Amino acid sequence: MADVNRLSSVHLRAAELHEKINHHNYRYYVLDDPEVSDAEYDGLMNELRRLEAEHPHLVTPASPTQRVGAAPAEGFSQVQHARPMLSLANAFNEEELEAWHRRVKGLLDGADFDLVCELKIDGLAVSLRYENGLFAQGATRGDGYTGEDVTQNLRTVRSIPLRLMGNPPPELEVRGEVYLPLEDFRRLNEEREQRGEPLYANPRNTGAGSVRQLDPKVTASRNLKIWVYSPGNNDTPGIPGNHFDSLEWLRGAGFPINPNNRRFRHIDEVSDYYHHWLESRHDLPYEADGVVIKVDPFSYQNALGFVGREPRWAIAYKFPAEQAVTKLINIGINVGRTGSLNPYAILEPVFVSGATVKQASLHNEEDINRKDIRVGDWVTVERAGDVIPQVVGPITERRTGEEAPFQMPSRCPVCDTLVVKPESDAMHRCPNSACPIQFFELLKHFVSKGAMDIDGLGEQWCATLIEKGLVSDVSGLYYMDKEELLKLDRMGERLATKIMTNIEASKKRSLVRFLFALGILHVGPEIAELLCQRFPSLDALAEATEEELTDIPGIGPKIAESVAAYFAVPNNLEVIDKLRKAGVDPYREIPAIDQDSLPLSGQSFVVTGTLSAFPRREAESRIKALGGSVGSSVTRKTNYLVAGESPGSKLTTAERLGTEVLDEAGFLEILEKAEAGSSRG
Ligand code: NAD
Repeated sequence: MADVNRLSSVHLRAAELHEKINHHNYRYYVLDDPEVSDAEYDGLMNELRRLEAEHPHLVTPASPTQRVGAAPAEGFSQVQHARPMLSLANAFNEEELEAWHRRVKGLLDGADFDLVCELKIDGLAVSLRYENGLFAQGATRGDGYTGEDVTQNLRTVRSIPLRLMGNPPPELEVRGEVYLPLEDFRRLNEEREQRGEPLYANPRNTGAGSVRQLDPKVTASRNLKIWVYSPGNNDTPGIPGNHFDSLEWLRGAGFPINPNNRRFRHIDEVSDYYHHWLESRHDLPYEADGVVIKVDPFSYQNALGFVGREPRWAIAYKFPAEQAVTKLINIGINVGRTGSLNPYAILEPVFVSGATVKQASLHNEEDINRKDIRVGDWVTVERAGDVIPQVVGPITERRTGEEAPFQMPSRCPVCDTLVVKPESDAMHRCPNSACPIQFFELLKHFVSKGAMDIDGLGEQWCATLIEKGLVSDVSGLYYMDKEELLKLDRMGERLATKIMTNIEASKKRSLVRFLFALGILHVGPEIAELLCQRFPSLDALAEATEEELTDIPGIGPKIAESVAAYFAVPNNLEVIDKLRKAGVDPYREIPAIDQDSLPLSGQSFVVTGTLSAFPRREAESRIKALGGSVGSSVTRKTNYLVAGESPGSKLTTAERLGTEVLDEAGFLEILEKAEAGSSRG
């Protein structure tokens, strides 16, 4: 009986682990937005592996230990890999590495072989296929057998050669890891911080997300790079018969090959290589989460083959996660430029991966509640590479009962205004744009280089102007005189003249910059440009409805809501009016698109079901670009329902209302005609 109980508890735990791991796989591989750290994920996976080793009947084809990644996401065409793109077995310590080496040597009847060591790049695995030396197709790993077609996005990654050098074979596939360099990750987050948007958690998921989305322009803007780490097929005619030389051969064809790859004979040398990079990994301009060791030559790899989802001829020796345990003394709140209330952990100082950590990010209230983090808890803190330290979670066993659950303050800690929490937003916000902190952040942003570019007015001076009451909203800058400036401590004649001259010059900036300078939530320079293309003046934009705004390709409901909300606040309109009266007169540099002259103008569409030629979002974007509008439900005003495969209830409604229904072919015909018309015009 006892045995039966034990078995059923083992089954239960295995089922629980399946469910948890599958959930985290979905968050990580499909959404590129993990909820737990890699170390925590690896812990669950190792527990399942241990259970399966003790109870082999638990190993089923559906077990996460037997599967790679996740199936391709909706919206992408699928690519069948010519050879599966699998995972790697892991070693977490020296004994596991040596055991693997002994096992391999045994399987090769004691033969001697080379060991190629490479950095394990923490990015997104891709396959690149070339036909007659030209880049033909790029795909993600997906579930190992079927990946997502991301050719158009990968074409924008400049280190991926579009044409190979030398004498490439007619068919060549290579595999590599696309990654976001740390410096670009940092820059991207700085920009997001300026716009008051939540920060990206880490370079790996930001990089993967930049490839696995549908707009190549977004991929192009991210400066992604690639390291190629193997041919897709080691039987490809013309390539050398061993891994190390084949990488050199690929380098000759124009692929970026990591310069830190090494070939060794002895396992001790592998261990030295690992320890060297364990120490030096933070000097790399990208993230590496371990070292990959591969048996060479190819003939030995082929003889060793695969077991489950892992080749026997390679192993990933992972770097340990850089974590530490410390006490959460309190939870503080920062107020950002856009009024977001950002909670952060105040920690008892602790040393993690080369730095003392006193504070860590806590994202938002939802995240704190999900992880059940309480003030007074002992918490695990993680610092991965360059990333802002994160609180992984509490150590609940160490609770004394004194810990207090966190509650978001109901009033802004700076100006005491009641805080709001918009439905579509993960953040709580202070809605008072005159809140001193918000205003300080806004003023810094307003005078910054990409905005009104008022050189000479640095952060310190912005603080002083507010403190001395010289400005209380951005228009105040244009009502100051030089005498007032000269009364300030440490202000000299030269600097005062420079500031006044630059303020005067800033009256003539482009409308795009001006709009960006206003600091509207979610409006960065690119969005400002899209808005200015559609609306010829600030007045026209101020009057636009959310619906008109969402009709602009590239503008979603969140941005539309934020823009409309900004112009609905009387105080904001007053400030704009004062700016105008002071002579601020932005000019329009982008030619307006005359909406009414576009071929689909006045026509409204609803798109439903699955289209085979492209994803629904792309169809909607193309309709909008041609002047048409796109609705989410069929009404009497809808002109066309585009019905793809499995259209559902919208088709019934359209039939009831007598709305014209287009199948995919009919829709493509209208699009093509309209596109031909608009390119002639
Ligand atoms: P893996 O990342 O441990 O190893 C396989 C991958 O390594 C290959 O697909 C390849 O893309 C990559 N790689 C990088 N450099 C390489 C090189 N030089 N040579 C060969 N391959 C190289 O295994 P996996 O199955 O891709 O992912 C599992 C890992 O992903 C976990 O250990 C965890 O760290 C992370 N993960 C995290 C979560 C989470 O929720 N945090 C969820 C799922 C997976």
